[in-house]
Amino acid sequence: MNKQVAIGIDIGGTNTKVGIITHQGELIDSLHFPTVKENPEIFFKNIYEETLAKLKVNNITDKDILGIGLGAPMLHSQSGIIGYAHNLGWRNIPIKAIFEQHFKLPIFIDNDANLAALGESYFGVGKNSHSFILITLGTGVGTGIVINGKLLRGFHAQGGEGGHIIIDAPENRPCPCGGINHVEGYLGAAGIKKTLQMNGLQMEVKEFGEHLLSKNPSDQALKCLDIICDQLSSAISNMAVMVDPEKFIIAGGVSQMGPIFLNTLEKKFNEKVLHSLKHKIQFELAEVSTKKGAIFGGAALVFSEVL
Ligand SMILES: [Zn+2]
Repeated sequence: MNKQVAIGIDIGGTNTKVGIITHQGELIDSLHFPTVKENPEIFFKNIYEETLAKLKVNNITDKDILGIGLGAPMLHSQSGIIGYAHNLGWRNIPIKAIFEQHFKLPIFIDNDANLAALGESYFGVGKNSHSFILITLGTGVGTGIVINGKLLRGFHAQGGEGGHIIIDAPENRPCPCGGINHVEGYLGAAGIKKTLQMNGLQMEVKEFGEHLLSKNPSDQALKCLDIICDQLSSAISNMAVMVDPEKFIIAGGVSQMGPIFLNTLEKKFNEKVLHSLKHKIQFELAEVSTKKGAIFGGAALVFSEVL
């Protein structure tokens, strides 16, 4: 093998994926298996052994591999430890050290929003962008800020935590982090569901999205869309005046609502943002994390650190 590759590993709450990816974004091979919650150390050893077998089949040796980019729930990027992943029941697991021991290769780690942002920067709609802010709307709300192809991590590795921007809201709604009136309390899946309930819609976020995409969405659903886009547009107006990005990239489950969500958000944003930025920042839906998977973000992290 004369190509340099990176291995992207995405340990999710339900499934784990491994991908061997070239700098050009070619997926050479991949593995998918359910995440085993019991005995994480044995599970990590299995990931190592199965990956090793795949590398052998593809005739890839250690000198071809630039490193491993790893994402996992509640992974602290400075310490390399999973503090407490409540979905998995894992506590204080030094995952970076464990993978280093097995693979004897450089291991790079970061949170899922930062990995998604790097994935778009290398292989998706953020390619060749001067700068962008990616916003993932899923169970929680994450953001990743990329400037000139590099992530903005900050002094304490807490940069780009846009899910915890405080927004002006009539109620005092708690955020899962313990704060009050943070974006995630309103735009995380539980937050959106609460807003739907408060406006007489008893449905899951996925169902709400599907209803919005139907031919005749109800006035009530359109009102809810208006409310959630109003809340998010306040937060991203604040982000815009601090970073002045070329574009916003929307990822995660909520982004599946497509153009109706994106257009409403963009309209509200342009009503609120500083006049000198009005109609200047592009809005796009993420490509890589939704269509190709988070393993590409892991590989992009390796390329961004090594090359
Ligand atoms: Zn918060």
